[in-house]
Amino acid sequence: MSCSSETSCGGGRGIPSKCVCGLPTIIFTSKTQDNPGRPFFRCASKRDDHFFKWVEDAVLEEVEELKDVSLKIKSEADEFKEMLLKTKSEVEEFKTVIGDVMEAQMWSKKEIWKLKIMIKVFFSWAFFMSICVVFLMFRKANAKKLVLGY
Ligand SMILES: [Zn+2]
Repeated sequence: MSCSSETSCGGGRGIPSKCVCGLPTIIFTSKTQDNPGRPFFRCASKRDDHFFKWVEDAVLEEVEELKDVSLKIKSEADEFKEMLLKTKSEVEEFKTVIGDVMEAQMWSKKEIWKLKIMIKVFFSWAFFMSICVVFLMFRKANAKKLVLGY
């Protein structure tokens, strides 16, 4: 494809740094009757069939590219924000689960404590009752001895 002063050619979008041949691109000023004083990029070899682009087109492409980048950054920022919110809600959920586990642990500790008290009360009662039984048996035995003694 040969370049003309009507259309851009060679290189990618935006402000070109190098021509396809590897030489740098330089800004020249048009001296044609159609575009007097209009700046354009051209290969340093000054061969029009290598590279040609109007400076305003290159700047416009650059701005469009920046707009795309900015939109991409914005969408990535939104995505990140969403991820952050999700993580935050997951942390809250985790905190709730930990709270439940701790509450259950407290409850089981209380239950164990209650059970220990009940066991102590039961054994104390059983001990007291066995003493009473022994006492009564001893007393009955003594009473019989007394009866027999008569
Ligand atoms: Zn070139």
